[in-house]
Amino acid sequence: MNTRSDSLGSNGSDEHPPRELVTQTASARLPTTWGEFMCHSYESLDDGQMHLAFVMGEVDGAEPVLVRVHSECVTGDVFNSVKCDCGLQLDEAMSRVAQAGQGVVIYLRGHEGRGIGISQKLKAYELQDQGFDTVDANLELGVAVDSRDYSVGAQILTQLGVSQLRLMTNNPAKYQGLASNGLTITELIPLHVPIHPEAERYIETKRGRLGHHTPSSAGSSAAPSDAVVS
Ligand SMILES: [Zn+2]
Repeated sequence: MNTRSDSLGSNGSDEHPPRELVTQTASARLPTTWGEFMCHSYESLDDGQMHLAFVMGEVDGAEPVLVRVHSECVTGDVFNSVKCDCGLQLDEAMSRVAQAGQGVVIYLRGHEGRGIGISQKLKAYELQDQGFDTVDANLELGVAVDSRDYSVGAQILTQLGVSQLRLMTNNPAKYQGLASNGLTITELIPLHVPIHPEAERYIETKRGRLGHHTPSSAGSSAAPSDAVVS
């Protein structure tokens, strides 16, 4: 019996334990410009992808934990692309965990371009420069609009001892993906970051067509995010 598609928040008590999806492979103290984290690596048993968890403070207690489950975006996270808001969101999440002195940032690999990979993402960017929006560009390429799966991220959190989380996201699909894997989300914390003019149409599409909780571009200059950057 397949229980993977259970409805939101379902957590039946007589289910079999979930199949093991990841195994922890290493851990080290990692001092960063945001603060000092423990960095754990995990190998996905299905596809060999390596994922990371950045942990600050004790996170295996009863209190809800501040969490970001971040999808890899090499252009945004590493090379400061302004076509999307990924890099700024990652920076904001790391900053907020450091300020709280406790929390987890999961870095999920294989989520590039909402799961289509870097090559297809660049092809989609080219189509966007021809007038397609981010959803129609994927459809034109014959790839999924969003194929990301959050069960690995959920299992990493479970292995860390986190069961209740205060989730930093603007994306309702991420909320549902984690909640349907047995985690309880006690609070949704938006991550509104300043939007570059190059990203305005992309953000607007995510808001209008994918249901993301982001301010309209007209209000982007009033993003409240910089209040927490020191
Ligand atoms: Zn991105």
